[in-house]
Parts: sequence; structure tokens; C-alpha cells
Amino acid sequence: EPLTAAAPDPDDKAIEAALRPKNLDDFVGQKRVREQLSLVLEASRLRGRSADHVLLSGPPGLGKTTLSMIIAAEMNAPLRISSGPAIQHAGDLAAILSSLTEGEVLFLDEIHRMSRPAEEMLYMAMEDFRVDIVVGKGAGATAIPLDLPPFTLVGATTRAGLLPGPLRDRFGFTGHLEFYSTAELELVLRRSAMLMDMKVNSAGFSEVAGRSRGTPRIANRLLRRVRDWALVHGVDQIDARTAGAALDMYEVDERGLDRLDRAVLHALVTKFNGGPVGLSTLAIAVGEEPETVETVAEPYLVREGLLGRTPRGRIATRAAWEHLGLDMPESAAQ
Ligand code: ATP
Repeated sequence: EPLTAAAPDPDDKAIEAALRPKNLDDFVGQKRVREQLSLVLEASRLRGRSADHVLLSGPPGLGKTTLSMIIAAEMNAPLRISSGPAIQHAGDLAAILSSLTEGEVLFLDEIHRMSRPAEEMLYMAMEDFRVDIVVGKGAGATAIPLDLPPFTLVGATTRAGLLPGPLRDRFGFTGHLEFYSTAELELVLRRSAMLMDMKVNSAGFSEVAGRSRGTPRIANRLLRRVRDWALVHGVDQIDARTAGAALDMYEVDERGLDRLDRAVLHALVTKFNGGPVGLSTLAIAVGEEPETVETVAEPYLVREGLLGRTPRGRIATRAAWEHLGLDMPESAAQ
């Protein structure tokens, strides 16, 4: 069982695909990004050109992949999906780039995790639609320039700050995705419930939305768990009580904290007396990668006022102690 509710769930891939909004109008929330993106796309359509490269940043599950699909659909262009970790050698990238067709949208998830040589190849491809293919080794190596058809790169990253400046600068537009409000998540859930043929009342929707950590992917995932629970318990109409009971069983608390979130707070409080403690030490204490703690758990904990990032390290706030039902000792830092 994954520690975090944000982790992908392979069994649910098919439903997840069906729940994805297909165009900008069906995409809930993110009003600014939606308006800005719509302008970028409309302008390039009027010019008859492929759209400028787009960088999407924000915590996982807020809709970066979905937006890249929408960009391709709105531009009536095919979409190719890959990711930074899948591109370890410049040759991997060259193979993808050289097979792109005119106007194609290339989505690179976790673009900040690409290797350095691949990144440098990408600079030239983004700017001049050209790559140098290196043939041979050592003194006999030669670079063969290859022209690429114009394409649109859509890069996704959990934090724009993780990207080197020269790469960031080559995107014509950067959209920062924000956590969703509970009202927006309710809209996402209503649409999903309709597509899954579930009967949920308003209080049921707000119960699930309130536990979804501002994240549509989590909202949809929790809704599927509620659906399982209702099926097994023979519940036809889901209300706040049944939704709450179902989610309690999956260890998602009323504030939306999942096991990873609670593990981080718990370690911070019990092992380090509330901090301050460095990110990597904290990550080791919960058995996760520092990047996972930093990009998956922390943004929400910080937003909820449970965790603070200080120059000396992470600290648990008074609210964190209270949330865990513990008394904050005098000796704990604030
Ligand atoms: P990651 O960065 O981890 O790839 P992501 O930000 O790309 O995550 P998506 O895979 O695009 O997230 O979205 C997760 C799910 O949430 C999708 O299946 C989609 O159904 C739903 N979703 C995301 N954003 C919206 C939205 N604005 N409106 C409706 N549903 C959404």
C-alpha cells in the first residue's frame, strides 16, 4: 500500500482516463492558467503556427498531464508523452525528437530530472528546431545537424525552481497550477460521479472534497474508494456519513492528511522534538526520497499551517502537535 494518496493506482488507469476532461471548457478551476493558455493557443491558431513551448509547474495531481492532452486536442495535433527520468542519454531524446511530426505536442513530465547532455540538446531543439546527432566516438566523432519540424514542447515540473535558468527561459509561457478550492473539487467530483453512475448528495461531495488536499487526482481516487465501500456495504445513496466512514477506513483523515503526511509530522514531532531538522534527515526518518517529501507532502502541510520551512530546517507548528493529539512541550522550537 503506497504511503501517499497521490501515488498512481494502476488498477484505476482506465477509469482515470475516462474521467479526464477533454477540452479547456471541461477543465475545472485554474482560471488564470486556463485563460492565459487559451490565448496562447488561439493566437497560434490564428497565425497558423505551432504553439509556443509551455511549462506547467505545480504539485502532482493538479492536472499537468491533462492540460498537455488538452493542448494537443485544441491544436488538433498528435501528442507524444515521455518523461525526464526516461531520458537518460542524449540519444534517447534525439530518437524522440527526430520522429516528431509537424505541429506535434511533446509532453515531458518531470522535465527537471532529465540528464544534462539531453537537456543541452533540448535547448537547441526548442530554440532552433534542430539537433546535432553525434556519430562516432573520440577524435573521429562528427556532429550531423538534423532539422526538426516545428513542435510544441509541454514541460511539467513539480517546482519551476528545480529547472536550470536556461531551460526555463526557453518556454514562451509558464503556467503555475494552484491547489483547488473545496468548491472546485466538488465540481470535479460531481462530473466524475456522473460518469461513474454514482449517487452522492451535496454533503457527500463536500465530505470527499474536504479530504482531497486540494488535488483533483486525489478527489477522484477517494471517490473510487467510496464507490468500492458503498458497493460492498450495499449503500446506494452516498451521504457525508457514509463517505466519511469509507475514507476513515482508508486512513485519510478529516483534514485530508494521508499516511505519508502523518508519517512526516509524526517523525518531526516524535524523533526531532518538532525540529528544526533538515529535509534529508526527515526523509530518511520516514523512508522516502527527499524529493517526495518536499514535493508531495510538504506543499500541503505548509499550506495547512502544520509544517514550517525555516533556514535551519523543517519545524512542526503548534497546529501539527494538536492535529496528532499531542501536547507541545515548552522545549519545542516555534
Ligand atoms: P502529475 O504531475 O503527477 O503527472 P498531473 O498534475 O499531471 O499529475 P493529471 O494526471 O493531469 O495530474 O490529473 C490527475 C487526474 O485528475 C486526472 O485523471 C483528471 O481526471 C483529474 N483532473 C485534473 N485536473 C482536473 C481539472 N481541472 N478538472 C477535472 N479533472 C481534473
